[in-house]
Amino acid sequence: MDDTRLVVNCGSSSLKLALFDAQDRLITSALAERLNSCNVRATISGKDSPVALPSEASHTQALEALIDEFRALGLMPSAPSAIGHRVVHGGETFRHSALIDDAVREAIDACSGLAPLHNPVNLTGIDATRAMFPRVPQVAVFDTAFHQTLPRKAFHYAVPEYWYRDWGVRRYGFHGTSHKYMAQEAARRLGQPQSNTSIISCHLGNGCSITAIRNGISVDTSMGLTPLEGLVMGTRSGDVDPGLFDYLATKGLSAKRVNKALNSESGLLGISGQTNDMRTLCDLADNGHEASNLAIDIFCFRLAKYIGGMMTSLSRLDALVFTGGIGENSPRIRQMTLENLTILGFSIDHEANKNHGRQADGRVDEKNSRFPVLVIPTNEELVIAREAARFAHAPDPA
Ligand code: AMP
Repeated sequence: MDDTRLVVNCGSSSLKLALFDAQDRLITSALAERLNSCNVRATISGKDSPVALPSEASHTQALEALIDEFRALGLMPSAPSAIGHRVVHGGETFRHSALIDDAVREAIDACSGLAPLHNPVNLTGIDATRAMFPRVPQVAVFDTAFHQTLPRKAFHYAVPEYWYRDWGVRRYGFHGTSHKYMAQEAARRLGQPQSNTSIISCHLGNGCSITAIRNGISVDTSMGLTPLEGLVMGTRSGDVDPGLFDYLATKGLSAKRVNKALNSESGLLGISGQTNDMRTLCDLADNGHEASNLAIDIFCFRLAKYIGGMMTSLSRLDALVFTGGIGENSPRIRQMTLENLTILGFSIDHEANKNHGRQADGRVDEKNSRFPVLVIPTNEELVIAREAARFAHAPDPA
C-alpha cells in the first residue's frame, strides 16, 4: 500500500495541510487563509497560481478543493494511508495521541469548553476527512498531551481546590508536539538516549512557551489553563497580575474586554505600538524606535527569568534549546537572552550564533559555557505525521 500520510491543521480562519511519504519526507504542503470571508485564498507550495475556491469558502470546502488538487497534480494517491489531525486541547482525557472513533470524537468535543476557539474548528477538519475517507485511520494529536506528565506541584494553581476539582482549572500547557520533537532531536544530536536527556525547550514564535523536560518527560511548562500565561508573545501579554481585572473594571473595562486586550493587543504589539512581528521590531529598533527596543528588552528579560525558573525542575541540564520562528532565526534574541543569564554560566559563540548553530549539531555555545545551547528547527507537522502512522495501526502503542 502507498504509505502517504496527510496532516491536517485547522485554525480559526485557516487550514494547513501537509503530505509526508513513508520515509518522513515532506511531499507537499498547502495553506488556505481567511476562510469564511470574501478574501479567502488557497495555495499549494511550489505552485504559483492559487487554488480556486468559492467566496466565503468553509474549512470543509477548502479541504476538499486542496485534496482534489493534490490528486490532480499526482501528489497523492486516491486516499492517504493515515491522517493526523492537530487538536489543541485534550484536557486530562488524552495523555497520548488517539485513534479517532465516535467516542474519541465525543471526548474531544467535551474538551471544547477549555478551548472554545480551537477544538470545535479542529473537529470540523476531523468530520470532513472522516466523511471523505471513511476507511482511512485518523489520529488526533494533542497540543496538551505531552504535558500530562507534569507533577501536581507544577500543574496545580494556588486557588480554591474546587476550581480544579469541579471545573478543571489547572495548568495544561501547549506546543506539546514542538517540545516533544525538541526532546527527541536534542537527545539525537547530543548522542544520548531521550530517556536520559534533560533539556529546557524554548518555543519562540508568534506564540511562545518554555518547557522543562526531565529524562524525556515534560515536568514544567509556562503556558497554563490557556495559551495566555507565561512568556511575552507576539500579541499576548504572558504573565500579568490577575489583580488588574478588578482595577481595570474601575476604568470601565469588562473582564471580556481585558481578556481580549491581553490576547490580541498586548505582547510585542502592545509594548511597541507598532507590530507583533519580531523581525520588523528589530528593524524598527535599529532605526531608533525606543518602544520597539523596549519590547525586545522585555521579551528577552522575561524569557531569561523563565529559563532560570525552569531549572528548578531539573537535576541536570543537558541543553538549552531554541526553536520557533524567533528561536530559530534571531541571533539577537538568543544573545540578549543569554546575556541576562551569565550568572548561570551560559556563554555564546557569536560566530555559531550568527549562523543559527554549527552545521554538525546546531550548537551555539562557547567551549567554556556551562551548558550546551542548541538551535533546532521545529517540525510539528512531521511529529503529527509520525504519530498518525504509529497510532493508525496500534491504538495505544505508547
Ligand atoms: P512562527 O509563529 O514560529 O512562524 O514565528 C513567527 C515569528 O518569527 C515572527 O515574530 C517573525 O518575525 C519571527 N522571525 C522569523 N524570522 C526572523 C528573523 N530572521 N529574525 C527575527 N525574527 C524572526
